[in-house]
Amino acid sequence: MSLSEQHAADLSAETVVVAAGRPPRERDMPVNPPLVLSSTYFGTGSLDTGDRGYGRYSNPTWDPFEEALARLEGAELPGLLYSSGLAAVSSALSLIPAGGALVMPTHSYSGTLVMASELAQKGFVELRAVDIADTAAVKAALAPGGPGARPAAMLWLESPTNPMLGIADVAALTEAAHAAGAIVVTDNTFSTPLVQQPLALGSDVVLHSVTKYLAGHSDVVLGALVTSNPDIRSALLHNRTIHGGIAGPFEAWLALRGLRTLALRVERSQQSAMILAERLSNHPRVESIRFPGLPADPGHERAKAQMKGFGSIVCIQVAPAGGLDGAGAADKLVQALELWLPATSLGGVESLIERRRRHAAEPTSVPENLVRLSVGIENVEDLWADLEQALDTLGG
Ligand SMILES: *Cc1c(COP(=O)(O)O)cnc(C)c1O
Repeated sequence: MSLSEQHAADLSAETVVVAAGRPPRERDMPVNPPLVLSSTYFGTGSLDTGDRGYGRYSNPTWDPFEEALARLEGAELPGLLYSSGLAAVSSALSLIPAGGALVMPTHSYSGTLVMASELAQKGFVELRAVDIADTAAVKAALAPGGPGARPAAMLWLESPTNPMLGIADVAALTEAAHAAGAIVVTDNTFSTPLVQQPLALGSDVVLHSVTKYLAGHSDVVLGALVTSNPDIRSALLHNRTIHGGIAGPFEAWLALRGLRTLALRVERSQQSAMILAERLSNHPRVESIRFPGLPADPGHERAKAQMKGFGSIVCIQVAPAGGLDGAGAADKLVQALELWLPATSLGGVESLIERRRRHAAEPTSVPENLVRLSVGIENVEDLWADLEQALDTLGG
């Protein structure tokens, strides 16, 4: 290890988001990596000796982000950028051999669930949906007893889950999955590598919807996978190249620009989420609340043990009010807000709110009156004042 590599290894994550992926420190080099718009590359050697070749195989604009994300997740190999989070999900699921069993949280991200269910309907995989917070149930699904029951090929983890905020015991489940011969993919979108590092907890692959916190400004759609396993990385890279789910260079450039402020954004939004969750938990119009930072939350102890902070997604169930049922009251709350933006997605600088069941694809086990709040970086008192005035419109 050179002195500079040693130095780089010692840097904290707050510094890595700023310092990683810069061009060499040489005279007249730009301080930011350039945006490279080219579908092909001058090349007289061979692809086997590392020529970039063609724009679907690689692009210099991807590299700094892939390097930075790998360092943040503690991976030994560069990450892989994809055209969206779901393109990354698709590539990760391609690691399952034909007909293999996939154990997945009942409350995974809805698009992930739709993709897995469709693969199962076609007979490509066997889907076993589980309550990911129930460690015993997940272990039973990984290595079921009984004649003809096959161990799982892949365990999918999402923790906290979207939108139910269930907390998985990542280390215990990863160990059980490996004992059953399954590989583990963890969707780390909600936590970001600053809050939770699934590779350190034993996961084989980490997934991000870069669209959310990593890019952080609600202006790009991108995904990423990270692994330290060379065989898995080659399989994923092959899948990305052949299925073509590659990132646009401009999106990759914007994602690195967004990543520079990740530590500040996560710090602020986590702080504000804690304050808002405490206040919401005491509000009469709030029937129930999920936020792992609250000591009464069922996932609190587990989250405290495996996360640095509790994220900045808060979910509430709105009480029926003024002749409206809970879903009606939730809709009224969302419409009465003046600062919070009624929109899907999460992880941007601006605070977003939505009633999840307005989406037909949302699992019916998600309550109709559940509202998901993605806390941004605005002043927390402004955010609270807006929530309070909107809750007041529901009456006493
Ligand atoms: C949004 C999201 C995805 C899908 O990512 P896209 O970038 O929208 O394709 C996957 N997992 C989680 C947890 C998400 O929030």
